[in-house]
Amino acid sequence: MALIVQKYGGTSVANPERIQAVATKVKSARDQHHDIVVVVSAMAGETNRLIELAKTMQPCPRPRELDVIMATGEQVTIALLALALEHINCPACSYTGFQVPITTDSAYGKARIKDIAVAKMRADLAAGKVVIVAGFQGIDALGNITTLGRGGSDTTGVALAAALKADECQIYTDVDGVYTTDPRIEPRARRLDRITFEEMLEMASLGSKVLQIRSVEFAGKYNVPLRVLSSFTPGPGTLITLEDQQVEEVRIAGIAFSRDEAKLTVLGVPDRPGVAYGILGPIAAANIEVDMIVQNIAPDGSTTDLTFTVHRNDYQRAFEILQANANKLGSREISGDNRIAKLSLVGVGMRSHAGIAAKMFASLAKEGINIRMISTSEIKISVVVDEKYLELGVRTLHDAFELDRQDVNN
Ligand code: ASP
Ligand code: MG
Repeated sequence: MALIVQKYGGTSVANPERIQAVATKVKSARDQHHDIVVVVSAMAGETNRLIELAKTMQPCPRPRELDVIMATGEQVTIALLALALEHINCPACSYTGFQVPITTDSAYGKARIKDIAVAKMRADLAAGKVVIVAGFQGIDALGNITTLGRGGSDTTGVALAAALKADECQIYTDVDGVYTTDPRIEPRARRLDRITFEEMLEMASLGSKVLQIRSVEFAGKYNVPLRVLSSFTPGPGTLITLEDQQVEEVRIAGIAFSRDEAKLTVLGVPDRPGVAYGILGPIAAANIEVDMIVQNIAPDGSTTDLTFTVHRNDYQRAFEILQANANKLGSREISGDNRIAKLSLVGVGMRSHAGIAAKMFASLAKEGINIRMISTSEIKISVVVDEKYLELGVRTLHDAFELDRQDVNN
């Protein structure tokens, strides 16, 4: 008998019929004598509707009141699910975040969980009930209602699993697991049986948005085994865990990519200490996040070129900041390109296998794809290419590393 936290997202509880289907799934897990704690999101689209409703009163609703409004979405689904379970003879009890209570800091709209009281949940489980908790919400030390940021029910699920020392946290969603890459680009993309927390973070932050990133960080920190599964198609899903011997065999987990990139280059700056700070300081001060950075020194050592990437939405602003600084920096020219994309190969196996970067570059070269920038970390190699090569690049790498083959990878 295990203690399992199951989290169902908005599409899984989108209407009464789907909530009844969730109840059936929960009951069948309960019938296998597992202790079940369920976390639910609001019905699909509901949180957006509530935000729009708030905006009819104030264009920028005061965060405290907005959280009060947003938290109602999940309050509806927990009670509906409790009723649905009782109707099929499965005793259940629902709790809002403040009833548990789930204590957070006071950062409305992006609150962080500080503490979860487990006594009531433990008593209900001991009495044979299914416990249902509203995702995405908590209460601060002063009794104000808070929310955890969009997609925050994932974090509620993981945090409850950590607090209850659950055997597994299952995230039910509309995809049946984590894939080697986006199947819309590479139809041969394959569902991974397992992936490490670290790899998942790289895949998620690079655009494979299956889970709220914060929930994966949380799961990694507290070592909560996390499983992503479909609410609609049965299957084992993808297990996200710490690295182990088995995973060591996996050389590459997948290919992440992002289209929302732009790069800027400052050419011919006199090379002296403080140049990088002179260029990037004002960018940081404007709250623009910089991703890759490459610096080249001229052959005679007198000047340097510095190239960096930013989110495409920040391109214009970054360009203007560089231009405003051009005189002070003594740069010869400023250039930029906002039609670029980033491709990243991700895998813990890179740590122990040489030659992966060479293979990656060779396969891109064979297709005539020019690499404009490169950056690496322990478990990731990223390249910047022209946007028009994104799809071809993803398919080329998927093919080169045989990611469609179960026996080669995982
Ligand atoms: N209902 C919230 C949202 O739409 C939280 C969640 O679904 O995880 O962001
Ligand atoms: Mg979600």
